[in-house]
Amino acid sequence: MSPEPTASRDRMPAAFLGHGSPMNALETNRYTEAWHTFGASVREPRAILAISAHWYIRGSAVTAMPRPRTIHDFGGFPQALFDVEYPARGDAALAEEVAELARPTQVVLDQTAWGLDHGTWSVLCHAFPSANVPVVQLSIDARQSFDFHLELGAKLSALRDRDVLIIGSGNVVHNLRAIRWDAPDAGMDWAVRFDAAASQIMRERPSELPSLAGHSDFALAVPTPDHFIPLLYIAGLAAADSSAQSRTFSEGYTLGSLSMTCHAVENHA
Ligand code: ZN
Repeated sequence: MSPEPTASRDRMPAAFLGHGSPMNALETNRYTEAWHTFGASVREPRAILAISAHWYIRGSAVTAMPRPRTIHDFGGFPQALFDVEYPARGDAALAEEVAELARPTQVVLDQTAWGLDHGTWSVLCHAFPSANVPVVQLSIDARQSFDFHLELGAKLSALRDRDVLIIGSGNVVHNLRAIRWDAPDAGMDWAVRFDAAASQIMRERPSELPSLAGHSDFALAVPTPDHFIPLLYIAGLAAADSSAQSRTFSEGYTLGSLSMTCHAVENHA
């Protein structure tokens, strides 16, 4: 069964990575360098559990196949992006651990439906470029509340003692209808305000992240919840561990209405 928990300083970190455009998979910029630096800073995990904005379905499922396929879940990008493969192995044992920890929520062990979508591989191809760490994806149940996702994140906390690196991949602020092509590296005032509020809550009281639904800029910053919800999982992990600290890294904005901010949850001796 479960191994004994190790000292808190040995817990794997967890992180939320703001992924932005799929083109970041092919580019090198300050965001991709931050993902790379983060990946290089952690000891090699046994496996990675990824919660991506792009597996947003009615239900909870976890990839359990030995060789998850690389899913190119976008259109209108150059062929080079469709040619990207992220050949990480799966980890059926981790998939079963996730299902066990999530109870009484039922988590389907997926063998065929999904794989690794671009929310996962566009960041992991920088953070773990050799793809030598097994990767499992957990879906986001679109029917559930923010509190549900926060609590499910907290339930996964034990995985941090089992050498599993948990990654949320989304964007704290993500409004594609409000994109400003004349502002490639800037954020609108409302985007900056909302992102700053999220960062403050992550650092000071992560269990209260669902309260951002009442923020005056919420409707503009989170017009659909899919890209925000992965942060709730990381907030849940932070809230479940009183000795962990959250830190913001790689802050920035792109096209006015996307924030690229990343958050790490870490334990320090
Ligand atoms: Zn996305």
